[in-house]
Amino acid sequence: MSDCIFCRMIAGEIPSLRIHEDEDCIAVLDIGPAEKGHTLIIPKRHYEDVTDGLSAEVLGKLMKTAAVIGARQKERLHADGFNIVQNNGEAAGQTVHHLHIHVIPRFQGGPVIAGWNPTDPGQEALREVYELLKD
Ligand code: AMP
Ligand code: ZN
Repeated sequence: MSDCIFCRMIAGEIPSLRIHEDEDCIAVLDIGPAEKGHTLIIPKRHYEDVTDGLSAEVLGKLMKTAAVIGARQKERLHADGFNIVQNNGEAAGQTVHHLHIHVIPRFQGGPVIAGWNPTDPGQEALREVYELLKD
């Protein structure tokens, strides 16, 4: 038996509320939602994270499903918008090491969910990072 909680969920060994299923993925309600309707898009195949060799085709399908579920949250839950969030590595907040995409409904005046504080590093520091990251 796999010790991956999402593999076990896909196998039906632990319960989940599946709002969508297709040949590549399931979409389930998160048990600890940041907002009502918070959904996880989970590929049926086990990938540790987004760098774990999945094809552009599968990634595209997961992302398309995330968009469809976000649109559904707007239509059926009357969300004003939604965040698509995807954590890679513990430092980034990943707690379940089976790739998944969060789709989190957002309501005007509701809590900030995927936010950060902008900084002003200056041109020199930006240029240093540019040299490190460019193709
Ligand atoms: P992350 O921190 O990006 O790895 O997100 C893992 C998410 O999985 C969290 O939001 C958890 O609430 C959610 N989660 C963990 N176990 C379950 C489960 N059995 N059913 C639904 N969601 C789960
Ligand atoms: Zn897994």
